[in-house]
Amino acid sequence: MQPIQNIFPLLSEPKKVVITMHQKPDGDAMGSTLGLYHFLSKLGHQCTVISPTNWANFLNWMPGCNTVLDYESQGSKADILMADADWIFCLDFNILSRTKRMADKLLAAKGERILIDHHREPQTEVFTYGNSNIEKSSTSEMVFDFIVESGHIDMIEANIGACLYAGVMTDTGSFRFPSTKASVHKMVYELMERGLEHSHVHEELYDNFLESRFRFIGHALLNRLELFYEYNTALITVPQSDLIKFNVKTGDTEGLVNYALSIQGIKLAAVIIDRGEERKSSFRSKAGFDVNTFARTYFNGGGHFNAAGGFNKEPLEEVVLKFKAALKENKTALSTYQF
Ligand code: 5GP
Ligand code: MN
Repeated sequence: MQPIQNIFPLLSEPKKVVITMHQKPDGDAMGSTLGLYHFLSKLGHQCTVISPTNWANFLNWMPGCNTVLDYESQGSKADILMADADWIFCLDFNILSRTKRMADKLLAAKGERILIDHHREPQTEVFTYGNSNIEKSSTSEMVFDFIVESGHIDMIEANIGACLYAGVMTDTGSFRFPSTKASVHKMVYELMERGLEHSHVHEELYDNFLESRFRFIGHALLNRLELFYEYNTALITVPQSDLIKFNVKTGDTEGLVNYALSIQGIKLAAVIIDRGEERKSSFRSKAGFDVNTFARTYFNGGGHFNAAGGFNKEPLEEVVLKFKAALKENKTALSTYQF
């Protein structure tokens, strides 16, 4: 993988560009891809954003979101664009399998794949150019760096600002995680200087949920939360019947794991959800417990040191047993928590 700076001289020639992200995109995946989409389109490139799957309704307000193709429902159109693209930007994921059914098509495409990502252990061999930096708060911050380093900071306007701000805000837990370095605040300063209205972004993302989501969260915290104090761990297990009963939509479960992590003394928080076709886990940790390794070792997943996820094919009860066995194996690391 060559440094991404090597494409800067090529940015002036119009190209056919596809920009994609991980499945079930979150704020950073959607914000970074749309931020890059607006920037490259302004430079004169012909761009399309493709999501491997659908996404949460609370992302729909983002400028340009109405142009994003959902591979699950618009696969044949997306296949043509991918096969024909000169450049395929891969944002906010480290391995092609995170694009699910799109992975084979991405690998077969003749265009050059370009990575911009902040997850650990990227599959560097499949990218011609790239920037992988686990120190970065978000892929959105890396897209901002890309725009600035390529000499185009003056092209940033309100739409780019809203997309990138949404990404960095959601991936930093509203600027609270240790990944929120001074560079993040500097970026926000630059975005605000160029028309960003930050309150609007907060309202769209956090004050826009349906009643059913709150009823679901209340139910999950009251009835599905287990605490394992000897391991400083909290677990929320969600059976598929809850998703049906509360009419839970894509994105409604996002943030649930953070409630568990906010309990005093909790070092590891987990949510395991039975999505029917698979069991999806989310892990969050505080201080020195590495959930990236935890998710990789036991749950076919990965992510970051303090936030990771995974998938299992086994039934829910088995995944929960696996989790409990994993707690035992990690007892030393989990029980020696320094407050
Ligand atoms: P979440 O729990 O919000 O789904 O994911 C937390 C973090 O871990 C995100 O940065 C996400 O991209 C990453 N992540 C989630 N699931 C997986 C997975 O199965 N594999 C890898 N490599 N990363 C994941
Ligand atoms: Mn991210």
